[in-house]
Amino acid sequence: MSIKQNLETIKESLPGNVTLIAVSKTKPVQEIMEAYDAGQRDFGENKVQEMTDKWEQMPTDVLWHMIGHLQRNKVKYIAPYVHLIHAVDSLKLLKEINKQAQKNNRIINCLLQVYIAKEETKFGLEPEEVTQILESDDFKSFKHIRITGLMGMATFTQNSSQIEREFQFLKSFFDQLKHKYGMSALSIGMSGDYHLAIKHGSTLVRIGSAIFGERNYN
Ligand SMILES: *Cc1c(COP(=O)(O)O)cnc(C)c1O
Repeated sequence: MSIKQNLETIKESLPGNVTLIAVSKTKPVQEIMEAYDAGQRDFGENKVQEMTDKWEQMPTDVLWHMIGHLQRNKVKYIAPYVHLIHAVDSLKLLKEINKQAQKNNRIINCLLQVYIAKEETKFGLEPEEVTQILESDDFKSFKHIRITGLMGMATFTQNSSQIEREFQFLKSFFDQLKHKYGMSALSIGMSGDYHLAIKHGSTLVRIGSAIFGERNYN
């Protein structure tokens, strides 16, 4: 199957309110342009250097999503152009994003990453920490950030009922917060679990290998 065909098949299965983010990490610009030429505009990367290189080479109407863990000292490289930062997991990082956004005269959209997996290796905030951040005076003083929603990654497992429980947990938390904090985006679902994520209210699915094929590394 071609990249274009993969995109079409996936898009047919997505409800109208769900945005497909094509996760292009490790893939060359030539392949990403195949997706672009098929009409895809939202792309996700997990490394700052790689995303910035691609941003320089690709058309300017691409919407770049930083989906990986972001280090504070690298925010400055993506601040001029990033569309949405998915995996914000500390107030310190938000503070730096706010600072760099201000320098670029922008408001940067961010999602807070919530820890939902039963795995030590995954990043994210506990629900109480999310509320603490949103209620903090620091956060309220950040004029160059908009928290548009939450992001989560389920446990890497074949057990779909566990994945569903984790997604549902995040969805319930999201529903508690969304009106109060004006959130609209729930970023859950990857190649292996996006059908389950949609069932549990995803509005942003991050799909890589089902579009571009398996990655050799990462
Ligand atoms: C790589 C990655 C994805 C996409 O994974 P696939 O299984 O290839 O769809 C989604 N989200 C994040 C955070 C990733 O790092």
